[in-house]
Amino acid sequence: MAELEGLEFGKSDFVLLDEVTMEQFMENLKLRFEKGRIYTYIGEVVVSVNPYRRMEIYGKDTIDAYRGRELYENPPHLYAVSDAAYKAMKRRAKDTCIVISGESGAGKTEASKYIMQYIAAITNPSQRAEVESVKNVLLKSNCVLEAFGNAKTNRNDNSSRFGKYMDINFNFNGEPTGGHINNYLLEKSRVVQQQNGERNFHSFYQLLRGGSDELLQSLHLQNDPAAFIYTKEGAATATSNNDRASHKAVMSALEVIGFSAEEINSIYQILASILLLGNLQFESDGESVQILGLEAVGHVSELTATEADSVRKSLLFRTVDTCCGRDAFVKALYERLFGWIVSRINSVIEVKDYDPVLHGKNTVIGVLDIYGFEIFDNNSFEQFCINYCNEKLQQLFIELILRQEQGEYQREGITWQHIDYFNNQIIVDLVEQPHKGIISILDEACLTVGKVTDTVCLESMDTKLAQHPHYTSRKVRTDHTKVLDFKKHFRIRHYAGDVTYSVEGFLEKNKDLLFQDFKRLMYNSANPVLKEMWPDGQLSITEVTKRPLTAATLFKNSIVALVDKLGCKEPYYVRCIKPNEMKSPVLFDDARCQHQVAYLGLMENVMVRRAGFAYRQHYARVLQRYKMTCEYTWPNHLMDSDREAVEAIVTQHGFQDDVAYGLTKLFVRTPRSLFTLEQERAAL
Ligand code: ADP
Ligand code: MG
Repeated sequence: MAELEGLEFGKSDFVLLDEVTMEQFMENLKLRFEKGRIYTYIGEVVVSVNPYRRMEIYGKDTIDAYRGRELYENPPHLYAVSDAAYKAMKRRAKDTCIVISGESGAGKTEASKYIMQYIAAITNPSQRAEVESVKNVLLKSNCVLEAFGNAKTNRNDNSSRFGKYMDINFNFNGEPTGGHINNYLLEKSRVVQQQNGERNFHSFYQLLRGGSDELLQSLHLQNDPAAFIYTKEGAATATSNNDRASHKAVMSALEVIGFSAEEINSIYQILASILLLGNLQFESDGESVQILGLEAVGHVSELTATEADSVRKSLLFRTVDTCCGRDAFVKALYERLFGWIVSRINSVIEVKDYDPVLHGKNTVIGVLDIYGFEIFDNNSFEQFCINYCNEKLQQLFIELILRQEQGEYQREGITWQHIDYFNNQIIVDLVEQPHKGIISILDEACLTVGKVTDTVCLESMDTKLAQHPHYTSRKVRTDHTKVLDFKKHFRIRHYAGDVTYSVEGFLEKNKDLLFQDFKRLMYNSANPVLKEMWPDGQLSITEVTKRPLTAATLFKNSIVALVDKLGCKEPYYVRCIKPNEMKSPVLFDDARCQHQVAYLGLMENVMVRRAGFAYRQHYARVLQRYKMTCEYTWPNHLMDSDREAVEAIVTQHGFQDDVAYGLTKLFVRTPRSLFTLEQERAAL
């Protein structure tokens, strides 16, 4: 068993700080980071700082040390929380979830992988083949999703460009029997355009750099990302990703998961079609538009198993802006491909033939790894959606932490003092309230017939939201105090900071219009895999005229559903902090870290935890740890209950006024009492 850490590594739980001030909090966080202690608790919440270097704390020995242990028996670790979630699920048949939050590059995805690895490692000791295969698919799915859903950004070489929520199902024995993945809002605009220094999704480079000559030839591709408009920007940027090796790994993961050779081939045909479509050039003579180089159109039609003439016609159908039509098509192709891959994985891991009468209650551990709060130089519709999602999750955090505390005190029959802190519901309302919120106003503008521009929509927002304390209209300045084109911006005061959004493109992205021609073209593909991705291509004209839901509303609905789902589970939290912008293992940027601590609400978290009773533990556990500090309990007590024995310990050390006795647990108000016990114990 790992030894508890000494004080030279700082306090392993922020609740133990002498005083809850930002200074002390930051001092402790920094000290621990510098000493290589990247995890610290706030009660059961894990605060994690990205170490940006390989840590030797994830091996088999560590897993063994944490398996089945209580939180406070080992130094803070993701494994301890994973084990707590697992124990709650197994012993109490509770559905649990682990919510991982933090900004881009803070370490969420890595954390989610360690959590899954831990759960895989501690389950199925008898190595039953069906269970092993479920675990294998669950683990391999990460590699595939990362290939298609992650990209190098300026913040993170392996940034997830989608949100992921994964349920792992367990049988009554606590063995994984399956799972389900939900994905949220893939950043599909990346397929056609990337910022300077960023890349397209990994999948393209992996194919171009790792695909065999035969494969590339059959796909009509050169093995050079610089040869394609869509991958050119990222072609030269150095990354730590080895595309060639990853290609192999993804291929083999796809096979392990159970994708057929035809399916894998279809995936590559779609990627190739996208690259070829991106290189098409259009020429206009004022009257009509032509495609230059019809050979490529032929290749696309071959790869998508459609008629070349139909491809050409679809591309030229709306002559207003052919490039826009093409780009919308390409983005949709990739988005559907991604969605299809997820549902294909789900079809493999979905729990089949589970009979609760025969097999007992089927319980779930959910793991949420979703994009964190984003503030860029230029913030668009995507950041608006992502930041709204973070408001919702923060709201849930507030609600659950309060509810959990309250619930625990109630169960244990203890009275406590309620404490208040900033409630961001007002910002959530600003975005999502029916009729009045920003999404409603956007949707209304999208539904208005005639030419409603982004600017008109912005005017409407400015009028309707002028009085809102978290909304600032126009005339805003960037942080560099450069005056922006103030006709096109609005600002939201988010819980995590002010974000200025450029309204440009909002309406188009919200409408997310794709001409029915393209859908029909794909639905009519002779390739069954492709056809399956486009069921709506089958709709008749009359059905099509029904207004589809807008992108913002679809996203809102999916996030509301997610929050509902999380809300009825017992939550565990991992709060990730990014120590610096340089990906450096030694740099602790005080200002940046403090900002994250502030907006993640960690100080409030500590205060809530301390306001009531900072510590609570089952009587048996308290005894086990401290019985040697009291003559009446060492080596064994002769009292009627563990509770009375614990009372004896508490009284002996003189802090009976600082505790409350619950039904099953001892509650300790201030950390000082605990120090006393720890000191007594250490002195022996
Ligand atoms: P996020 O998902 O929050 O955007 P990632 O989990 O992708 O961030 O982490 C970004 C990078 O930071 C990783 O690619 C890795 O290099 C490094 N990193 C994150 N967590 C750890 C860790 N626990 N140990 C070592 N490196 C890490
Ligand atoms: Mg990530």
